[in-house]
Amino acid sequence: MSIPKYWREIPQRYRLEALKCKKCGKIFFPPRLICSNCKTQEFENIRLKEEGKIVTYTIIRVPPKQFNGQAPYPVAIVELDDGVRIMGQITDANPEEIEIGKKVRVVFRKIQEQGHAGIINYGYKFILK
Ligand SMILES: [Zn+2]
Repeated sequence: MSIPKYWREIPQRYRLEALKCKKCGKIFFPPRLICSNCKTQEFENIRLKEEGKIVTYTIIRVPPKQFNGQAPYPVAIVELDDGVRIMGQITDANPEEIEIGKKVRVVFRKIQEQGHAGIINYGYKFILK
């Protein structure tokens, strides 16, 4: 991942920033330029709710190279309290504790460390409530 891309992504990675269509109210995360529902281009910035429940999950046993050493780890699709679904890793939990429908909270954690440059990426993960 290049540095410019990394910096561009900071707002949404750090603050769960989403866009809400001013016309129809649909919420987009990650943000996009045109509403897929009503085609308008007018949005307001909102922050997503930081709590939700597990819709589905899977245990990753063969991770992408940069996550070597972390496997196996659970990844879930979570429906936040405002209805938006996001995907992320569940952290600080035993796989046996994870169940569909369980409540989770969004936390910000280190995702990966990048080689010699020492760039550390942070992003959201979920913890069980
Ligand atoms: Zn719309």
